[in-house]
Parts: sequence; structure tokens; C-alpha cells
Amino acid sequence: MTLSSAEEFGFPLVKPSDDKYEFYRMGRNFSTNDVKRQVAGVAVPRTVDEVIAAVQHAGRNNLTIGVRSGGHSFNAPAVRDNALLIDLIQLKEVSFDEETEIVTASPSSTGKIVNGYLKSKGYWFPGGHCDGVGLGGFLSQGGAGFMWRSIGWAASLIEWMDVVTADGRLVHVSHHENTELLWAFVGSGPGYFGVVVRFGLKCPKLSKHHLRSVLLFGQSEYKDVMKWCLDIGETVAPSTEMFASSILREKFLPGGDPKEALLRVQCSAWTDSFEAGQAILTFMESAPHLDKAYHTEFCQPASLEAEYQVQIDINPVGQYFVTNGWFAGDHGRVTDLLEKPFLTLPSADSYSMMYSMQPRMSRHHFANDISSGIYVISYAIAADSDETPDLADKCKTWIQDTWRPIDEASREAAASGDPSAPRSVGYYTGDCNQEIRPGRFMSEQNWVKWVGIRDRYDPSHRFVGYLNNTEFTLNWNAWEGAPPANRPV
Ligand SMILES: Cc1cc2nc3c(=O)[nH]c(=O)nc-3n(C[C@H](O)[C@H](O)[C@H](O)COP(=O)(O)OP(=O)(O)OC[C@H]3O[C@@H](n4cnc5c(N)ncnc54)[C@H](O)[C@@H]3O)c2cc1C
Repeated sequence: MTLSSAEEFGFPLVKPSDDKYEFYRMGRNFSTNDVKRQVAGVAVPRTVDEVIAAVQHAGRNNLTIGVRSGGHSFNAPAVRDNALLIDLIQLKEVSFDEETEIVTASPSSTGKIVNGYLKSKGYWFPGGHCDGVGLGGFLSQGGAGFMWRSIGWAASLIEWMDVVTADGRLVHVSHHENTELLWAFVGSGPGYFGVVVRFGLKCPKLSKHHLRSVLLFGQSEYKDVMKWCLDIGETVAPSTEMFASSILREKFLPGGDPKEALLRVQCSAWTDSFEAGQAILTFMESAPHLDKAYHTEFCQPASLEAEYQVQIDINPVGQYFVTNGWFAGDHGRVTDLLEKPFLTLPSADSYSMMYSMQPRMSRHHFANDISSGIYVISYAIAADSDETPDLADKCKTWIQDTWRPIDEASREAAASGDPSAPRSVGYYTGDCNQEIRPGRFMSEQNWVKWVGIRDRYDPSHRFVGYLNNTEFTLNWNAWEGAPPANRPV
């Protein structure tokens, strides 16, 4: 990347022949998945004007555009053959207005960067749990941030954003101006049709006390404990974050069978008094089989910094194969359906997690309208090592084989019309490699509206869009049968 290329094009451009090309193509991506797609070049704008110049350059040269912010997608959907990749790493703005409580941040800012900046001011923002997730991709999915169950989608805190549209215009978007560009952004994930260059985000006040309780059980307690989590999650205070994750013993607990899947249940409460947090977390003492638990801790002090460290520890650099589902049905039957993803993990670093999302709150309506009280993710991880290629194949196959019975159960549940039948009602674009297990992430009504907005703002499909873009796979559950003729994609 040289200044002369910036002078020549109006923005720094890394060409395939440049030394830094591979770094900007895939080296900037957190996961090391074997993506072979080659871009025509990478624009690395330093200013909003340079982003506009890059979009106009793509238009003049008939190049499609992919956008990268934090580089934490699992399959790098912005890296596309012959496209111009616009990498926003050099836009680095963070400022805070105490009067409006709005932080202005560039899309490549991570939750950790924003929270490091806000801490001394007494505020925070619910960015991604992993410290490196960029606001751009994260908020485009909806954003499952810290205290997700309490706050709802992090994107519900977007007050405004500045967007460069396909025709190279800078547009201010808010809940009052150009509203459809905001509605369509939240839930579009990799399909968005503009470059967000700046966010204005409302920040909650930082609570004085962060407490957490943690329980660790062996595999034989899975059924009773998971069902208890699903049941009790319906009554626990919304101002908590509650999840149950399965992890292999070999990584976390010496002795015993290293391949035993452990179930770790965590509930956090962020409150302004220690006593209030303690009262909220009392329910953890009613978990079944506490006498058999390998570990218990109640109402211990926690912090955002400590939570970021946990994420660093559990998410090594490597290849990631990820899928998820929003679940419904009788809790005992859902527990049975989830047994495979929780108890048959394919590698030492893999895990599955259930987030209890009841009751949920959302301040605004967006394109992503699919959710339920139970959210489950599987992360199959092949950490970088000599064994990675074989392990990566195993992890990818595991995701497909393990989640196929869930899709089959969902088909049966839909056919039977029985509300207690366990099923997944759709999924979240944030936590998945869409091409290995496609699914529905918006209702059909929202999808038709979304496609209409996209086609008005980006009629020639300048932006690269989704990776699996057929009417059978894009925002469609395979078990829904054949899509209607001429379904828009
Ligand atoms: C280890 C790990 C932990 C994660 N934890 C969480 C979590 O806690 N909660 C959660 O919700 N998700 C989580 N994710 C998923 C993550 O939110 C998504 O992958 C998200 O897309 C990453 O955003 P990014 O900007 O870092 O990624 P990028 O790869 O830079 O972007 C992903 C896509 O978003 C779109 N995009 C990015 N920036 C812009 C922009 N400025 N304008 C328009 N479109 C844009 C592009 O289509 C791009 O292809 C995690 C991912 C990893 C790898």
C-alpha cells in the first residue's frame, strides 16, 4: 500500500500483486477458515471521503463491493472473487457526548475498545462477547452482546448511523430520517447494501456491581440441569445474562474421562447494589444435583474485563464452523433434542451454548424478527495446529450431522402442528457459516420488504450479498419444502 496508489485512486488500494495482499485478503480475518476466493483489490480508506471514493471507483469499474469492519465473521463473506473489498480498519473514531449519552464510533471499533474508552465516564456498550468483534458486522446482525437477555439486540441502541450507499452518497440514517436503511440493516448481516461509516449509539450506565454464579456438572446431570435451566429461565429477572455451555473435560478439569462433556451454567447480574444482585442470583442455589456438582460459586464479583478474558481463553485462533437455532417446544423434549450438540463435541476447543432469553425486550422493530426464549449455538473449532485440516473436516461434518436431526424434528413439528413438539424456528445470522447450514433469519413478510428496499438502494447489486443466495437456501429452512415460484432473493 503506497501513498501514490491513494493519490491515483483517491484511497489506499492494495492490489493482488502487493506484499500486503494476503494479509488484507484473509490475514485480517480472525478465523483461519480455508477461504480460496480472491478479491480484485482491497481498499483501506482512512476517511469517510476515501470510502466514498472507493465505492465510486467500484461503480466506475463495475466491481462488486464487500465490506469488512472487525474481521470476525466465520467465513469472510466480504471476500469474494473479483470484488473490491473495503476494509474499514483505518477508520478509528470514538467520542462520547455526556449530555446525550451517545458514543460515536467507527464500525471497526470493537466492544472492548469502546468499553475501555467509556469506563472512566461511567458508561458502557453491549458489544460482542469476544473482544475482537467489530461493531459493523455485529450490529448488522442485531448484536448479541453482554446482558443480551436484558437489553435485547445491541442494535436497539443505535440512535443514528452514516451510510455510503451504492451510488456513492453519504446518507444520515436515524429513527426519523431514512429509516428503512436502519430497519433493513439490523438483521441483514452479510447482505447489507451500503457501507456504514459511523454509528451513534446510546450507552447504558455502568452498574456498580457485577456478580456471577457458576455451576459445573458432569455429563450424567445434563438432562435434569438443562431442563431446569429452560424452566427457571422463564421466571428469572430480565436484568441477568444466563447461559449453559457444554465443554470437554480435558480443557477445563484435570482427572476423570477427558472426553466427558461438562455442563457449565452461569448467571450474571449487573445491579447498583450488592444485595440486589445477590437476591436475583439466589435461584442458582435451587439447581438440581448441587451435591454432585464439580464446582459451585455463588455471587462472586465479576467484570467486563474478566468476561473478555474468558472469551480469549475459549476462542483460540483456528477454523470455526458455527451454527445456531432459536428453539421452542416442551422443555423436556427440547432438552432431549439438544443432547447431541451438547454431549458429542468434536474437538477439545468446541462448545455448545444455550442462552435463556426469557423474558425478552426490544425497543425497536427491525428486519430480524425471528427469535424465541431459547437460543442455542454450536461452535466447532479446529484450533491452528498440524492437525487442523483433518480436524476442520471433522468439525464441519459434525455441525452438519449433529444439526440435521434438529432440522428433521423441526420439519415434523411443523407438519404435526403440535406446539409442544421440539423444534428450531429459525436462526441468527451472526453466529453461523451460512453456507454449511442455511436457514431462516427473517419472516417471509420482512424478507420481501427487505429485498424491495435493497433493490431500490442497490438496483444493480453492487454489494456482494449473501454467500448461499438461491431461493432454496437464502432465508429459507430446507424443511419448509419447495419455495414458491419466483421467490425473491
Ligand atoms: C470468536 C467470536 C465470538 C463472537 N461472539 C459474538 C457475540 O458474542 N455476539 C454476536 O452477536 N456475535 C458474535 N460473533 C459473531 C460476529 O458478531 C459476526 O461474525 C460479525 O459479523 C462480526 O463482525 P465484524 O465486523 O467483526 O466482521 P466482518 O467480517 O468485518 O464483517 C462481517 C460482515 O458484516 C458486514 N459488515 C461489516 N461491517 C460493515 C459496515 N461497516 N457496513 C456494512 N456492512 C458491514 C459485511 O457484510 C461483512 O461481510 C462472534 C464471532 C467470533 C469469531
